[in-house]
Amino acid sequence: MKPVYKRLVLKISGQSMAGDQGFGISTTRIHQTSQEILEVVELGVQLGIVCGGGNIIRGITASAQGIDRTAADYMGMLASVMNALALQDSLEKKGVSTRLLSAIEIKQVAEPHIRRRAMRHLEKGRVVIFAAGTGNPFFTTDTGAALRAMEIGADVVLKGTRVDGIFDSDPEKVPGARLYDRLTYRDFLARNLGIMDATAVALCQENKLPIVVFNMSIPGNIVRVVCGEAVGTTVAT
Ligand code: UDP
Repeated sequence: MKPVYKRLVLKISGQSMAGDQGFGISTTRIHQTSQEILEVVELGVQLGIVCGGGNIIRGITASAQGIDRTAADYMGMLASVMNALALQDSLEKKGVSTRLLSAIEIKQVAEPHIRRRAMRHLEKGRVVIFAAGTGNPFFTTDTGAALRAMEIGADVVLKGTRVDGIFDSDPEKVPGARLYDRLTYRDFLARNLGIMDATAVALCQENKLPIVVFNMSIPGNIVRVVCGEAVGTTVAT
């Protein structure tokens, strides 16, 4: 199999680290994911990974329960650091060379995010794990993924989820929901489709960065997407 991308950013949602229980960290799921990442690395692709944190805490949900929104958002960003550490551990155990870069300084466990350093790691074939999203409250790790992808000159943002792509309505609630193969940024935003953060999509639109949303719980899907197979939904111009 031959990759169609040279450098890419893979966004892994916190949910896909949680396994069946829906929260916390499932080491089984993380090992499955890191095995697939290993297969992508072996194709010679330069890979940046952005970890979500929603399996531990989401700012909006925590603030609805009474925690100050900004504090809750920082908690969410720190949650993404925990996920990133778990993923880094699993990847390194499989022999994948990694570097963890955090948008919030936390230097005992991660390098600070410095763009040029990230680029250097990628050129040396290391997987760069970007943690703590954008480093700013009121954003999401989807936006962090779009931002990092643009900074490092990635060819695409891949967003792994637990459904097959972007549907016209929530496939977990609406039977017969229709899956889109392809959408323009404009259509995605106009239809108010919830699967990806609108700020992230608008950022990709401005910079013509394609997005592929796909099901990461199907084994082999990451490699399929990286090799250009028609998997999931592509959002582009
Ligand atoms: N977050 C934030 N700024 C960022 C990225 C994340 O404030 O740049 C916070 C926000 O509270 C979010 C939480 O971290 O709810 C977890 O991130 P996200 O919801 O994107 O994780 P995912 O849904 O991908 O698991």
